[in-house]
Amino acid sequence: MKEKIKEQFKQRFGTDCVIYASAGRINLIGEHTDYNGGFVFPGAINKYIMAAININGTDKVRVYSMDMDAYCEFGLNEEDAPADQWARYIFGVCRETIKRGGVVKGFDTVFAGNVPLGAGLSSSAALESCFAFALNDMFNDNKIDKFELAKIGQSTEHNYCGVNCGIMDQFASVFGKKDCLMRLDCRSLEHAYFPFHPEGYKLVLLNSKVKHELVDSPYNKRRESCERVAAALGVETLRDATYTMLADIRDKVSDEDYRRARFVIGEKQRVLDVCDALERGDYETVGRCMFETHDGLSRDYEVSCEELDYLNDVARECGVTGSRIMGGGFGGCTINLVKDERYDNFIATAKEKFNAKYGHEPEVINVIISDGAHKEMD
Ligand code: ADP
Ligand code: MG
Repeated sequence: MKEKIKEQFKQRFGTDCVIYASAGRINLIGEHTDYNGGFVFPGAINKYIMAAININGTDKVRVYSMDMDAYCEFGLNEEDAPADQWARYIFGVCRETIKRGGVVKGFDTVFAGNVPLGAGLSSSAALESCFAFALNDMFNDNKIDKFELAKIGQSTEHNYCGVNCGIMDQFASVFGKKDCLMRLDCRSLEHAYFPFHPEGYKLVLLNSKVKHELVDSPYNKRRESCERVAAALGVETLRDATYTMLADIRDKVSDEDYRRARFVIGEKQRVLDVCDALERGDYETVGRCMFETHDGLSRDYEVSCEELDYLNDVARECGVTGSRIMGGGFGGCTINLVKDERYDNFIATAKEKFNAKYGHEPEVINVIISDGAHKEMD
């Protein structure tokens, strides 16, 4: 990819360039915990957005997207975002950097990527983080701290792309480190790295390629349930709740709200259990927690769907170590931790059975935990 981008840059702009990259991400465990003040546990992956960049001495940004085969240019003082969605991410990152007092000058760029779009691996965060990192390195002597870079990406989604996202995706893309997952405390924003290099196992995503659009927003309804239980418990968020506290107010909340809260409380603990397990290199426990998360998401939180439950069942049948829905639910991917010797059979079985039942094969996405935003050395 790097050579292709360089060559394209040379052809279009005729100058030398510097290459920057940032990564998509997975979240091993910790789902629907962010808005409950809990923990998430993401890592950057070996799927990237890569950009060739050079300063052009004007106040204009000239961008060519190789994957869209489209060109766009905009002035740095323009208020109106470009019409093309893909260009809005870059425009937004420039504007948000300037808004925070950062320097941005005109530049030329060619970019491309291999983070699957819309599969739940956050190609958009990879794109934002790549440019946020690049602008910091090229124009600001890397003085903007990394958390601020993540926030530049997040604000870009909020202000220019209409996506009201949390901070996890951009955080993972900016802070990602090879062979490490990161526990992010969504309340304090403290984070810690944990070793993740599962020798003898593979980490593989199966993209069901289904997305169930539901009439009323299930996301908002889940949030409201959590808020009601927190209020009944007299705590700010479910981060501060325990199973015992929940049992004490069982009669005061609906059965549905009770089950929602039971999942969230369990999920907080599972992230901590996985962290402990990783420090011991105990991937069997990690896998068990992943299955428990799936069951909780499916039965208590009710954000799964038939296709994802089916993929999870197939994983169990094939002796996969751990498997669960990744992301908000109602479609998208499962994330699977599989022993090397079981991998081939699992993939073949999942493809065959899923195809027989739903008429198409799931997309197989192998991932390795890798570095996040960085400058590529020659
Ligand atoms: P995701 O879950 O992958 O982040 P989004 O819908 O949030 O899905 O972001 C996908 C959007 O990001 C695309 O529609 C496109 O505008 C932009 N994008 C991602 N990858 C690329 C790429 N390689 N080239 C151009 N634009 C990209
Ligand atoms: Mg996105």
